Amino acid sequence: DTTSAPNFIRNQIREEIEGGRTGKIVTRFPPEPNGFLHIGHAKSICLNFGLAEHFGGDCHLRFDDTNPAKEEQAYIDAIKADVHWLGFEWAGPVRFASDYFDTLYQWAQHLVREGKAYVDDLSPDEIREYRGTLTEAGKPSPYRERSAEENLDLLERMRTGEFAEGEKVLRAKIDMAAPNINLRDPILYRIRHASHHQTGDKWKIYPSYDFTHGQSDALEGVTHSICTLEFEDHRPLYEWFLDNLPVPAKPRQIEFARLNLNYTLTSKRKLKLLVDQGIVDGWDDPRLPTISGMRRRGYTPASIRKFCEMIGVTRADGGLVDIAMLYHAIRSDLEDNAPRAMAVLKPLKVVLTNVPEDFEEVYEVAGHPAREDMAVRKVPFTRELYIDHDDFMENPPKKFFRLAPGKEVRLRNSYVIRCDEVIKDDAGELSELRCSVDFDTLGKNPEGRKVKGVIHWVSAERGIPMEVRLYDNLFLEEQPDKDRDADFLEHLNPESLVTVRAIGEPSLAESEPESRFQFERVGYFCADRHACRDGQLVFNRTVGLKDSWAR
Ligand code: ATP
Ligand code: MG
Ligand code: MG
Repeated sequence: DTTSAPNFIRNQIREEIEGGRTGKIVTRFPPEPNGFLHIGHAKSICLNFGLAEHFGGDCHLRFDDTNPAKEEQAYIDAIKADVHWLGFEWAGPVRFASDYFDTLYQWAQHLVREGKAYVDDLSPDEIREYRGTLTEAGKPSPYRERSAEENLDLLERMRTGEFAEGEKVLRAKIDMAAPNINLRDPILYRIRHASHHQTGDKWKIYPSYDFTHGQSDALEGVTHSICTLEFEDHRPLYEWFLDNLPVPAKPRQIEFARLNLNYTLTSKRKLKLLVDQGIVDGWDDPRLPTISGMRRRGYTPASIRKFCEMIGVTRADGGLVDIAMLYHAIRSDLEDNAPRAMAVLKPLKVVLTNVPEDFEEVYEVAGHPAREDMAVRKVPFTRELYIDHDDFMENPPKKFFRLAPGKEVRLRNSYVIRCDEVIKDDAGELSELRCSVDFDTLGKNPEGRKVKGVIHWVSAERGIPMEVRLYDNLFLEEQPDKDRDADFLEHLNPESLVTVRAIGEPSLAESEPESRFQFERVGYFCADRHACRDGQLVFNRTVGLKDSWAR
């Protein structure tokens, strides 16, 4: 029902292939292992892996691991699991930018020998100050004219750990007056006496993102290095390295607009803050837009891939995608593919006074109205049952077609009942309804009158208790981090999680973790991956039934 939106990179590559300018394409997805992947990364994954799939090329998974202080093995494992779960397979082994540290170091020495890099003793603050601004040219460091010999020696001593962190850096010698500030002698290496998850204590210096990325692409034979628009200004530098180093290939950088989703944060750093402060229940909290959170919430890989296709790929920056579109993608998948069940989230007891105490009949009900391949459910009907509080009103308005005193309603898949009596507790709260069944209404209309309403219900004797977690947007503001950076903590939705005790039909008892259902008339739910064990049933609300996405 949804058409795919434009993807300018796919169109461009198609033209290159048709024009014979590109053979086999190679792309890469290059996450930094400093957090879990989120829906923005899913856009990049679907783009990079999707292009390789589409054009019969390869997509590599390469960890951009140049900042050991913030990186962890646990993040590496989670990222691999997320890419697999989305249904993609990387070509060849998992790669690491750190695989290339030896080569990068030799290339740094190469630049030094060519007089194109130097060791600088300015402090980080001084370097920033000397670099100038958009309107003011930078000025050269007093260390800029060191001899190649001295630079080689200092660089080697940086490598072996002779200097303290921040004492020296290696910089490219490009142009301190360049209009593009990225070309004003960018930093190639920093001293960091940190242990690295891949290389251990081998290195005391670590290469910068800019000095690593394009060269890694070149070493892997990447043809199209696709990144977000923030890197557009880095492209001249990306190309400068490729032009000034003995690289085996010349990849090309192409930028696209990152995904921004309303009511959501797409920044690992900010998501990490929510996790670290205990505002959410870990990186896979179902309210987070992390891939593992969305998985736990009940999203399918297909729905995320479809969403990424729907949003398209452009260079138009700054747009906010409506989260209703994401909800639409999962809702339409579950509409077609999730079996149905009845569950009552706000149970109100109903006693059917003309049904005998030990009476039970069992209905065989289709698992899905349009899917004969789905198992038939057995739904027991007994004297006592539960309906939802919201399906009863003591003083209903005119158009209320559900249950009310003296009024009739149909129990879904079962009889028409009439409410004869309303029972209240000592506090005057509604506690129970006494109703009677018209036994002549199973599978047929009642005689001589019309009953419009149909409500869901669960046998009180046979229903099973379960916990239902009702999730909503984590933020009340469309752009929670719009104004100041930390503002988002002030816009948290206090009702982003509401937990209720519910009663489900017996067929739900065997639900495997991660099985998904439509609870009829209520919404789509997924059995929690972690909490459903030892006979406990916990369902997460994935999304409601009503679609508000305006096409
Ligand atoms: P964050 O700011 O959340 O840490 P990042 O860009 O620093 O994101 P990386 O791990 O470096 O995170 O990202 C890996 C890839 O995913 C990069 O190529 C990056 O461009 C892409 N990516 C990250 N966020 C988005 C987004 N919101 N939309 C599209 N692509 C994204
Ligand atoms: Mg990054
Ligand atoms: Mg980042």
